[in-house]
Amino acid sequence: MVSAQVKEQVKNQTLELKEKYGITPGLAVVIVGDDPASRVYVNNKKKACEAVGFKSEEYALDKNTTQQELLSLVKELNEKPDINGILVQLPLPNHLDDKAVIEAISPKKDVDAFHAVNVGKIMLGEYDFLPCTPAGVMEMLHYYNISVSGKNCVVIGRSNIVGKPMAMLLLHENGTVTICHSRTQNLAEICSRADILVAAVGKPKFVTADMVKEGAVVIDVGMDRDENGKLCGDVDFENVKDKCSYITPVPGGVGPMTIATLMKNTLKAAKLQNNID
Ligand code: NAP
Repeated sequence: MVSAQVKEQVKNQTLELKEKYGITPGLAVVIVGDDPASRVYVNNKKKACEAVGFKSEEYALDKNTTQQELLSLVKELNEKPDINGILVQLPLPNHLDDKAVIEAISPKKDVDAFHAVNVGKIMLGEYDFLPCTPAGVMEMLHYYNISVSGKNCVVIGRSNIVGKPMAMLLLHENGTVTICHSRTQNLAEICSRADILVAAVGKPKFVTADMVKEGAVVIDVGMDRDENGKLCGDVDFENVKDKCSYITPVPGGVGPMTIATLMKNTLKAAKLQNNID
């Protein structure tokens, strides 16, 4: 599994960092409120930290936490030398301003790569960190030697977290990229021309077999619930799988890659903050 391989590499480099420099990378995870899905994601991130040898700190805040309290915590974490990465689990409760919180995180500790400085760097192709989900997708493509150059790539979804950076990373590797969204016309036809189709819609089994070209590579970013409350993706896996050359399953697939990339980013942050190559 690609994610296991990435985590193994991070674990080995972490050991080296400890032995050579006495440094243990540290990740702070902040969660506000009691959203069950967010709780699962936070637990998975903490487990991954343990597995690769990082220090992890969880800050579980009450759902009524004020913007000021949250910003103060972020400021404190920015200044904490043993914390190299800060992650604020999104979405935040409605009364809190996601954007202001993200902008308060030091770009050097922004291991999600959501801060405007890091987003700008990604646009320019000169980045320290890449956003975890799109970077995880690229890592999978590399692992399976799937070349993007010159291919028709279609990304469904244009969120700041997945769709937009995903499109940018495919473009950096010379894909011919189309971004689709809720106002796109002829969506099925556009998708059916894709050599590489990335679904980041947030709607269960949204991509059906008629939208997929024979032999296409299909990447399912979705983490949705089907009619029985079971975790599923944006792609109708059972009916699409025989049509494509590669397809990522849900669960599995992109989810574990996102966490593996978060570990990679935290390690990189620790190295950058300590001026280690
Ligand atoms: P989001 O912010 O809700 O964005 C969804 C995008 O899909 C929007 O751009 C929206 O278009 C588009 N869309 C909605 N309905 C559509 C339709 N009928 N036709 C075409 N486009 C449509 O979601 P997100 O944060 O990007 O997440 C997308 C999915 O990925 C979710 O299932 C989420 O849980 C999952 N996810 C997984 C991971 C992971 O690690 N695997 C990480 C992050 C997210 P408009 O912009 O026009 O509204």
